[in-house]
Amino acid sequence: MSQLTAVRTARAALLDRPRGNFVIGRYPIPDPAPGGMLMKIELCGVCGTDVHTWQHSDIGIDYPISLGHEIVGTVAALGAGVTTDYIGKPLQVGDRIGVIPAIHCHQCYFCAIAKTPEKCIHWKTYGTWPRADEEPHFTGGYGDYLYIHDPNSVVLKMDTTPERGVFLEPMAVVVHSLLHAQIKPGDTVVVQGVGPIGLLTVAAAKVSGASKVIALGRRNRVRLALAQRMGADVVICQQDMPEQEERKRFVRAASLNGVGADVVFNTVGTAIGFKECLDYVRDSGTLVEVGNFVDSGTIPFNPCKDLLEKGIKVIGSFDNEAEHFVRALPLVSDLRLPIPELITHTIPLGRLQESCEAIRSGSALDGTEIVKAVIDPRLPEE
Ligand SMILES: [Zn+2]
Ligand SMILES: [Zn+2]
Repeated sequence: MSQLTAVRTARAALLDRPRGNFVIGRYPIPDPAPGGMLMKIELCGVCGTDVHTWQHSDIGIDYPISLGHEIVGTVAALGAGVTTDYIGKPLQVGDRIGVIPAIHCHQCYFCAIAKTPEKCIHWKTYGTWPRADEEPHFTGGYGDYLYIHDPNSVVLKMDTTPERGVFLEPMAVVVHSLLHAQIKPGDTVVVQGVGPIGLLTVAAAKVSGASKVIALGRRNRVRLALAQRMGADVVICQQDMPEQEERKRFVRAASLNGVGADVVFNTVGTAIGFKECLDYVRDSGTLVEVGNFVDSGTIPFNPCKDLLEKGIKVIGSFDNEAEHFVRALPLVSDLRLPIPELITHTIPLGRLQESCEAIRSGSALDGTEIVKAVIDPRLPEE
């Protein structure tokens, strides 16, 4: 084969089976079909959801898959007919873009009538679909390229850095929960949990009108310090205040009107974390559940005492859609918010498995605890 006809290839890390290995292979780089787009990946965040999918024995998907859904990169090639992003901004090769990993049909009951496309019955998502050992291979964020091939895909042009753009997807999760919460000026907001979603919630709540933000974390002082950097007015380390009764009293006293938080976000993936939030929300306030994305069990719940007598709203905020990404973009781009500080590890593609292991076990990587690890496929493998 002559040099001229040689097929260009690039890498993608494919998860071979449930609880399996991320195997890096080389595959032919596709030319985008009409309506499609090839993205050269700059960064992809390693998300707890990826780690969960990796560890889960059966979620009804076809392996191997290419995980990774927090993706920022640049336009490498545009298919015929693609001239703008989702909101009409002109697109050219080299422009930085973010992609909405989930693809919605726009036609089912949930898309068209209920206006909640995140519950689309034909929902699929880059990162788990389609199986990646077949063409076009580049179907997730853990590789050199993403081939954006589904006609319902949503792409947004970004005028920000990759270190901010990589948070577009998690910030869209946060925006969805903020829209549910309807924060008002003067509100006291509690954020339970200081993982990446909790920290982004602190930042977004602060610039969305909350007058006081109280962040609660279990033990990690690095993350609590980050919560202050993101704008939390008060941080509570549960190690310093181990009794729930004491935390309840403290939050009530710290709230601006002395009656508890107007809005509480639970970003912790435990049933008890949700239960504790019931103690922080004031009567007739709002509790938004974001953290229990994975089934973490059952807790006692008293419909009279916990819900009716308090007169509270409890809202589950599930996944995200185009509007949330469009609204998230100015937030991740907002230079008042030190969002890139959440990135503790920037690592090459070959260390994906290692970083997933560290997140799963809660252990340090290279001697530092992970807040957010991002894969940079441009980095040389060590
Ligand atoms: Zn994620
Ligand atoms: Zn649909």
